[in-house]
Amino acid sequence: MRICILAFDGLEYDLVIRWRMKALMQEYYGKYNSPISPTFKKPHTPSAWASFITGKTIEEHGIDGWWTWGRFLDWLRFKPPLRYIKNKSKFLRKIGIRPKLHSIEEVHTIFNVIKPSIPLFIPSFTEPVHFHYELADAIRESINAYVKKVWEIHRYRKKIFLECLNKDWKLLMAWFDLADLLGHVFIKKNPIKLFKGYKELNDIASLARSKLANTAILIVSDHGMKPQPKGTGDHSRYGFWSLNVEPPFKPEKITDFYRLIIKIVNEL
Ligand SMILES: [Zn+2]
Repeated sequence: MRICILAFDGLEYDLVIRWRMKALMQEYYGKYNSPISPTFKKPHTPSAWASFITGKTIEEHGIDGWWTWGRFLDWLRFKPPLRYIKNKSKFLRKIGIRPKLHSIEEVHTIFNVIKPSIPLFIPSFTEPVHFHYELADAIRESINAYVKKVWEIHRYRKKIFLECLNKDWKLLMAWFDLADLLGHVFIKKNPIKLFKGYKELNDIASLARSKLANTAILIVSDHGMKPQPKGTGDHSRYGFWSLNVEPPFKPEKITDFYRLIIKIVNEL
C-alpha cells in the first residue's frame, strides 16, 4: 500500500485530543518520546526529522542543525567570540556567507528505499533556506508581520502538496511548520489563534483523505508544544502520530518510523 506522510512539526498530542481534531486523530493514534538534540538539550526539529527519514539516531547521522555553513564555520559558531553574537546567521549573511543544506546521502533515506517518492520541504533535506530568511526578516519587523509570513509560507506549502496528490508516487511526504511556529507565539497568549492553525491542519488531513483512495496516511510530529512561564511556547518531549490503517507495530521512538513506513508499504 502506498503512503502519504503529513509531517506536522510541533503538533501537540494533548491539544489534538482536547480540541477533538478527528481528521488528525484518524483511526489509530498515540504518543512517542521525542529524541533529544545533543546541542540544544531538548527536542529540536532538524535532527529529529533527519532521524525520521534515515531511521538513524542523531549520534549516528550527526545532523544537529538546520543547515551547514561548512564544517569550519559550524564549529566556529559555538566558540567565542561568535558564540556571543546574536543573529549569527544574519551576521554571516551580511558578510556574504549563506548556509547550505546538509548532504544526507540519498541512499540513506526512506525516499531511496521506497520509489517513486516525493520529499516536500523536509528539514535538513529539501526545506528551502530562503523561507527561514523571510521569517527572520518578518520577525524583526513585528509579530503581526511574522504571523502573516508564517501563514503565507504555509499556504505555499499546501498548494505544492495538493498539486502532488495526483502525481505518481508510492511515498509522498510533506512537512508543515504551522503548528510549531504558531505554537511558540500563541500557546499561552492567544490559544484561539493556535486553534485556527490546528483546524487548518485538520482540514488538510481531511482533504488528503478524501482525495486519496487505498493509501495509508501517517500524520506525525517530531515533538509537541508546552506553555512557558514567560508566555511563549517550548517543545514538549513527546511527539504525536496517527494512522488510518492498523499499524503493524506502535512506534515508540523517532527511528521506529523508518521501519514502520517500509512495513506498511510492503505488507499492507
Ligand atoms: Zn519541530
